[in-house]
Amino acid sequence: MDKYIVYGDLNCPYSYAVHQKLKQLTLLDQVEFRLVEHAPDLGLYGNRPEILTELASDVFAVRSLAGEVPLALPPERPDSRFAILCIIAAQSVDRQQAETLRDLFYTALWVDGKDIACPSVIFNCIEKAGLPVELEVDEQCEDQLDRWHSQWDKSKVGSRIPAIVAPDNRKLLGLPSIEDLGAFFAGEESNLQNDSTKLQRSSSLHSIAILSTGDVTSIWAPLEAIRGEYNLLLPASMEELKQLFNSDNYAPDLVLLHADENWHDLLRGYQSFIERMKISYTPIAIVGAENDDSLELSAYAAGAADYIPAGRSAGILKARISMMLDLKKSRDFLERSARIDGLTGINNRREFEKLLEQEWRRSSRTNQSLALIMLDVDFFKPYNDSYGHLAGDSALRQISEVLQNALSRPYDAVCRYGGEEFAILMPETNISGAHKVAELVREAVMKRAIPHDRSSVCDVVTVSQGVASFVPSDFNSPMQLIQAADKALYHSKETCRNAVTVDGQYRENKDNLQ
Ligand code: GH3
Ligand code: MG
Ligand code: MG
Repeated sequence: MDKYIVYGDLNCPYSYAVHQKLKQLTLLDQVEFRLVEHAPDLGLYGNRPEILTELASDVFAVRSLAGEVPLALPPERPDSRFAILCIIAAQSVDRQQAETLRDLFYTALWVDGKDIACPSVIFNCIEKAGLPVELEVDEQCEDQLDRWHSQWDKSKVGSRIPAIVAPDNRKLLGLPSIEDLGAFFAGEESNLQNDSTKLQRSSSLHSIAILSTGDVTSIWAPLEAIRGEYNLLLPASMEELKQLFNSDNYAPDLVLLHADENWHDLLRGYQSFIERMKISYTPIAIVGAENDDSLELSAYAAGAADYIPAGRSAGILKARISMMLDLKKSRDFLERSARIDGLTGINNRREFEKLLEQEWRRSSRTNQSLALIMLDVDFFKPYNDSYGHLAGDSALRQISEVLQNALSRPYDAVCRYGGEEFAILMPETNISGAHKVAELVREAVMKRAIPHDRSSVCDVVTVSQGVASFVPSDFNSPMQLIQAADKALYHSKETCRNAVTVDGQYRENKDNLQ
């Protein structure tokens, strides 16, 4: 039987994860694993900050895509050439033992964090695999590696790893889920798209960004102890740290600044960044020279959450990191409670007022219109009387969900104004645009079909709305925008409910009367 061919590298965590998944599905015997060197210059540049940054981000991504595969950030991405050549040499001794050797190299690097370019690590693995330690790596092994490389080039997988090529030439690129992998081996076409922007952040692990102006490997000793428990991210510069904060998936929960003579500047730069971005509280700790009271004091004065001497034991480091993360968790909780409504999970009244002020100022600067819809659930008192308050709460949650789904622009905001009243704020939206949204909302709420046997206008829950849109000027105010939308809402209620009224025109929607 023709085998599936896998192209992968030992020092690529994606290839490692594919290997582990194939092992889990007991598919390895259907596979010829051709190892290729995807970064041949690594031996020269393995420790460069940008390579470490990329390595940390790869490990983060693989953990997010394949949480079931044990994986921790190694101190560096080692050159894989000699280890690959050893596996090739082992194949001519015993195929099964060569497979074991590949497995041992993967575990040594991606679980134990060992350097698989280091002779003692290599010999250890060879011995463990039951292979002769005098394994001969000769020219034929080099030729075999060259052949695998040219087959990889010719296989039209775009120089990507990991890549699996089926006997019928179907191709699977990247890191598939166990289900997709199983389906591919069952004969299905692959439509896998590993898009790192759509990564599901692995919820169980906190992320710690480590920023160092010096060599990160010099603080590797204390980090070694935590690399299995946290996602370690290694931005190469302040710029890259900022990018991490701007991405949903990679935003760190804690920043460790490695102290050298520039750390003070770094901390200051970071703080002004926090203020600018208004991101939630993220503790910053300094990792610095041991027992230096003046350094430690100036760290606190600059706003650091902690000062951790690099020489303390792993247990102390873990305990202090865990304390800082707990503190962040409670701060995040408080910050969220202050702005999010507990029942519906959308912005509360206080946040609405803040957003309104903010968007008003912005619209004023850009001379754009700011629209507001005030929305009130019809006959909600009788609804509670008929179905009970718990059902009433559930209806409010469903309505807020419908409202959120109805909006498409990132700056649009749905807020619970109070009780069964909601406000929708829409920057850069004129009155006719806002009117259209309100109509969509009205229809979407009806379509949700929450039964209501005590409504006089419909047999499902409906909403009434008032719409206003202002271009901020010296002659109007946010309060007047609310009043205008409120007045229009009042008109919807007065006339027939399940209605949309536009500010000033008090135009009724013909559909309302059906
Ligand atoms: P209308 O069509 O004129 O808006 O009639 P209505 O019954 O909706 O108006 P009213 O303002 O008299 O009643 C609002 C009711 O909404 C009062 C209360 O029973 C209910 N309500 C407000 N907040 C909540 C809540 O958090 N949960 C539940 N279950 N009901 C709420
Ligand atoms: Mg009301
Ligand atoms: Mg009401």
